[in-house]
Amino acid sequence: MTFEDLKLLPQILSALKTKGYLKPTPIQEKSIPPILDGMDICGSAQTGTGKTAAFALPMLQLLHIGRASQRKGIKSLILAPTRELAQQISDNFKDYGKGLNLKHCVIYGGVSQHGQTNTLKAGVDIVIATPGRLLDLMNQGFVHLNAIEFFVLDEVDRMLDMGFINDIKKIIAKLPAKKQTLFFSATMPPEIKKLSDTLLKNPVIVQTAPVSTAAVTVQQYVYHVKTDRKRDLLAYLLGKENKPHVLVFTRTKRGADKLAKGLTADGITAEAIHGNKSQNARQRALNRFKDRTISMLIATDVASRGLDITEISHVINFDLPEEAETYIHRIGRTGRAGAAGVAISFCAPDERGQLRDINKLTKNIEIISDQPYDASAASEEPRKQNGQSKGRKGGGSKRNFSGNSGGSGRKPSGNQGSWRGGRTNDRSYR
Ligand code: AMP
Repeated sequence: MTFEDLKLLPQILSALKTKGYLKPTPIQEKSIPPILDGMDICGSAQTGTGKTAAFALPMLQLLHIGRASQRKGIKSLILAPTRELAQQISDNFKDYGKGLNLKHCVIYGGVSQHGQTNTLKAGVDIVIATPGRLLDLMNQGFVHLNAIEFFVLDEVDRMLDMGFINDIKKIIAKLPAKKQTLFFSATMPPEIKKLSDTLLKNPVIVQTAPVSTAAVTVQQYVYHVKTDRKRDLLAYLLGKENKPHVLVFTRTKRGADKLAKGLTADGITAEAIHGNKSQNARQRALNRFKDRTISMLIATDVASRGLDITEISHVINFDLPEEAETYIHRIGRTGRAGAAGVAISFCAPDERGQLRDINKLTKNIEIISDQPYDASAASEEPRKQNGQSKGRKGGGSKRNFSGNSGGSGRKPSGNQGSWRGGRTNDRSYR
């Protein structure tokens, strides 16, 4: 299928060509036609699947051809959980809607509201917002939602995780009854199902891949290592690379700062982003990572949500996440839209329970044992903070690269060589 087959406007087709998109992704194929037909959508799609364009393209088209009534005011509202995701959606709207005369603005907290209120006063068709600041501006009388015709809730599960449920309900209460609603969530636990049932009218269900599967283009490796040697292992792996462009996840904000500081002292250009940093500092670090001024971005889960950075060669889980599904979201930062990627996880003896949970979702994690800090033989320790040790030692099918430990014997493809220790790097990071 091509974008032309989806009956998109020439201006939109031309914008997609400029972006270099050759054909629609599965979620775009499945969502664009029903949205153009005015249907509600309930979509669950893996991160990095092209979900934003799936709702943005038909919405832009319908707004442009004037399906929306001539009532004055904001016609479309898109709610997203984080500032970064809101900004990224806004960037996409700018690119996709280049040839159309539609105005949009992005609203989030952590920055002065002045610029946002000025843009709102000048009049916009589309508002992309995080719930807290939007509600704040609504309460101050800067935002009126009575003309809304399209309502998008993006990454609903994450919004609920972040405690936005009451804000979202207050916002929904101000929306007109008649509107087209597009609802996206990676997971559909009962609370979210209930919310979608109250919001959506005869929705088309769009599911592209089971939520708990990692993108097939991501190769996944785990290194068993003691906590106090993780930094050494990271430096060891990085030292073998020419132009690393790596997104690293830590469990805590403090851990992210500490690691960034340590790596900087080691001469590796790294910056941390997390919720305690101002929006401007986060955006600055993100820009410096995108333009490759720094080679490494260290993030916590909340800060990383929705980051769209192309060409991340590696995602490194410096700490394993508490929730197995977070692992899938994290590694979705690499291998986006079909590109190849590598995900490397460091597993300390007290994280093996988490690794076992992750292995239940994705069976494809290869254990790398030929590395100088290997602690796979170390006994499992109980978790320090909450004492949850889940018993059995191990986690995942044990394989090493000599292929003699009862595994598949498969050697990973050569382009990962230097990340396993000692081999020549034959991967170019561009
Ligand atoms: P998203 O899931 O919306 O965050 O998109 C993930 C990445 O895929 C972004 O970098 C998009 O620019 C890119 N993308 C979206 N649609 C396509 C497409 N049809 N072809 C190639 N890349 C795409």
